[in-house]
Amino acid sequence: MPDIVQLLPENIANQIAAGEVIQRPASAVKELLENAVDAGATEIKLFVNDAGKALIQVIDNGQGMSETDARMCFERHATSKIKNIEDLFHIKTMGFRGEALASIAGVAQVELKTRKADEITGTYIEIENSVVKTQQPIAVQQGTSISMKNLFFNVPARRNFLKSNSSELRHIVDEFIRVAMAFPGIFFSLTSNGQQVFHLEKGTLKQRIVQILGNNYTAKLVSVQEETDYMNIYGFVGKPDTAKKTRGDQYFFVNNRFIKSAYLNHAVMNAFSDMIAKDSFPMYALFIDLDPSRLDINVHPTKQEIKFEDEKIIYAFVQSAVKHALAQFSVTPTLDFDLDVSIQQSDAVSKPFTEDKRSAASSSSLYKTFTQKHQAHFIESKSDLQHWDEQLRVTSDELQGQPGEDMEKKIAVECAPEPVQKKEDKKPATNNFIQLHNTFILAENRNGFIAIHQQNAHERILYERFLNAIKGKPIATQRSLFPATIELTPADTVLLNELLDDLLLLGYLVEPFGNNTFVIQGSPADVIQGNEKATLEKMLDQYKHFSNDIKFGKREKLLRSMAWQQSVKANTSLDQKEMESLVNDLFDCETPNCTPNGKPSYLEFKKDELDKMFGR
Ligand code: ADP
Ligand code: MG
Repeated sequence: MPDIVQLLPENIANQIAAGEVIQRPASAVKELLENAVDAGATEIKLFVNDAGKALIQVIDNGQGMSETDARMCFERHATSKIKNIEDLFHIKTMGFRGEALASIAGVAQVELKTRKADEITGTYIEIENSVVKTQQPIAVQQGTSISMKNLFFNVPARRNFLKSNSSELRHIVDEFIRVAMAFPGIFFSLTSNGQQVFHLEKGTLKQRIVQILGNNYTAKLVSVQEETDYMNIYGFVGKPDTAKKTRGDQYFFVNNRFIKSAYLNHAVMNAFSDMIAKDSFPMYALFIDLDPSRLDINVHPTKQEIKFEDEKIIYAFVQSAVKHALAQFSVTPTLDFDLDVSIQQSDAVSKPFTEDKRSAASSSSLYKTFTQKHQAHFIESKSDLQHWDEQLRVTSDELQGQPGEDMEKKIAVECAPEPVQKKEDKKPATNNFIQLHNTFILAENRNGFIAIHQQNAHERILYERFLNAIKGKPIATQRSLFPATIELTPADTVLLNELLDDLLLLGYLVEPFGNNTFVIQGSPADVIQGNEKATLEKMLDQYKHFSNDIKFGKREKLLRSMAWQQSVKANTSLDQKEMESLVNDLFDCETPNCTPNGKPSYLEFKKDELDKMFGR
């Protein structure tokens, strides 16, 4: 018998390694951007075509590579960043494993152009499937340009595994933001299919955050800054009134590397507690710098989890730094030019602080010392959020396939189209409706009476109407005389672009206007004009809730978001006519008895059971 153990050919070894390092276009983007940062570039331009599937190119003005380095960099474990095991404990660069370029060259057609400042000619290399096709001198500007075409062209199984362009592009935008946020001193741009999505001039961290997350943060950032011998923290948190219903704008960086940490997130949330509604999410971009030897570097570099030597110290530090920052902001509002004059002159902020007030403030009860105006806003958004809360709970239970809480089990209804006879039985027999608590509508039916929950019922009605619209009965659009514009963050722009076609079926004619701006040219003919902007903004916010969830398609998410957004809410007084049309519309539905999320829209109380209860 011959021996059977063999070394894998290099290109196969690289393809296998690529499986770990390059999962999708966005992972290649991350590696290339980080290499450009490590090369000391002050300008980094990213170009993608077809969400990176056709092309990813990064051009930097960094230190460039010599001819030999240019050839070497595609070898596996080829790196200029560590030389010995000791170096591992002092990593200051973003990369160090020397795996990225080898992996990329194993799964794409790669072109490299590079030149060092002190050399006259540069080097051009073409490499495909780990095999060098061309290598020659080239006249080129200082720095490096790497382009990779047709990612996974030689691994069809992986190529097929890629998601839709919009979804892959969203991942790319996420990675881009994470690197760009960490290096505000570097110019970054992102161009997708020839359209510039980001153009981020060099500036301060604060400016960078606003460039990325949107102008509405301009006057809404609180600076966080604490230094100790052990670690430093700096960055910004959003003022409590900017907390959102979606988690999104939350960034942690450790030694400038973006990380995900549920644990540290908890520390920030804790610092915010009392100041924001439960289940709302404050914005933060926080940078923790500490001695690299206190981190476990053996965690895979592309993974965003990280292990600290002492998590608890870091938790306490983060929490107190944020608390402190928020307290500063609330005890010294007169120094805060972001507050408008009427607020600055109100007693709560203009009078000197008593000990009591100071401790109230520093224990984070910001709202106690805040103005009426802001409290009103807070309460308003809080009641909004409670609905969210319900909405979310149902969805996440559904998602995990787990039964809801006990109460929900009790009220669970079977959510399926109702046979005509059954519907006839439940349907109110008279047009006499009574509204209770501005929320419930009572109506007599054949067997007794039903109590309808007006919001749940309306969500059902709208959901089915929208579903029909999508299925081929588009809702008529009425052109606006004074079209409103909305300006979004680049990330939300990507998202809204995805929804434009379906929105038109729902009656909203929205057109891109460049620069992350959209014009709302028309809205549903049956909806009173004037609120289109708020409607779309809220819809997007809501849509993002579902965003990471694979169970629902894009349309389903849109329909549910819109149905919730436009439904008449509880605590709204309705007149007889309104109740009548609501009830009629409900029983015209295919599945009148529950909301899209499975909550009952009405409950039936049977006469014979009521009789029994009364001892008759
Ligand atoms: P790592 O970043 O872990 O060292 P890579 O495979 O990403 O590994 O890159 C290999 C080497 O190629 C780097 O160590 C660096 O010396 C060189 N290199 C890669 N990209 C660039 C770039 N944009 N500019 C200059 N040198 C680069
Ligand atoms: Mg690298």
